[in-house]
Amino acid sequence: MRELIDKLARTRSLSADEYERFVAVRTPELAAELAGRAREACERVYGDAVFARALIEISNVCRNDCYYCGIRRSNQDCARYQMGSEQVMACAQEAWRAGFRTFVLQGGESPALTDAWLCSLVRDLKASFPGCAVTLSVGERSRDSYRRLREAGADRYLLRHETATPAHYQQLHPAAMSFHARMECLRNLRELGYAVGVGFMVGSPFQTPARLAADLKFIERFKPEMCGIGPFVPHHGTPFASEEAGTVDLTCYLLSLIRLMHPAVLLPATTALEALKPDGRERAIGAGANVVMPNVSPAALQGSYELYDRKPVSEKTAFQKWAELERKLAPLERRLVIDRGDAAEPSPKE
Ligand code: SAM
Repeated sequence: MRELIDKLARTRSLSADEYERFVAVRTPELAAELAGRAREACERVYGDAVFARALIEISNVCRNDCYYCGIRRSNQDCARYQMGSEQVMACAQEAWRAGFRTFVLQGGESPALTDAWLCSLVRDLKASFPGCAVTLSVGERSRDSYRRLREAGADRYLLRHETATPAHYQQLHPAAMSFHARMECLRNLRELGYAVGVGFMVGSPFQTPARLAADLKFIERFKPEMCGIGPFVPHHGTPFASEEAGTVDLTCYLLSLIRLMHPAVLLPATTALEALKPDGRERAIGAGANVVMPNVSPAALQGSYELYDRKPVSEKTAFQKWAELERKLAPLERRLVIDRGDAAEPSPKE
């Protein structure tokens, strides 16, 4: 496998069969070797910097019924909320003072998140916090809507592709949602000049090594600026309540492969990792991730944005979260930086 690691680092590409082999033959030794190579690749592009994003969960109202998600429309036990603009601005203010220079506004696909409301919020954020970056993650919208939000100042957009295999997409979502529509959204976002984030859950039901290889091939071709992968964690109020969770080990292994294939990609150490293992995020940094995204939403609302069981809720302030991350990153020889943390230009192949 060492030859294949060299090939991936050198050419930044493998065949689907080769990616599948990596998934099939995973051992702790191979994972450690890949993690070391991925960390080095990350350092060559970003040095010891880790970028911070302030995650604000603006609404848990959602018209969709994704089989895996705790805020799906059919979950009657979810106390629905929508933050007001002033509440969002107050969260951003505290996060800005703590050092955050990127705000991620995430929410379900709610009819209340109109273009007018979101555009005005994006404009307020950009005007109040000069030099900040605004990332949106509010699901599938029309090209016109994405264009308006971009013109209002949104810089980045996170929309996980969820799976690159159309048949798998249909096993995770009801018929009203389509792989084709998701891909069209991603194409539109890219054409409109957003920095685009894709991603998927590791260990989602019906995932296979071949399907994971297809995800890796998709990421290789699409070359997203950001890629969010985290373990699938079941939620008790969904059709997938009794499915097995994904693992931190496989997630870290895939993070390393993605880093080697795409050294400049921004790779978050996702919250779902922390839900499974207290040191899950640190392990992801050790495997090549370079972004952390602490939740700065009001503590009283965090519990209602329950995508999966055991999602961490914390009463700590943005300042305390920043300080805690700094402390946790120090032993990994990583430094949390006050920077909006844009993706670096892809470097030439070795
Ligand atoms: N509505 C927006 C969208 O669909 O992109 C943003 C919110 S959505 C809840 C954010 C992400 O949460 C999804 O892309 C999905 O991968 C992840 N997610 C949802 N349920 C999950 C679960 N049970 N385990 C792990 N991740 C989950």
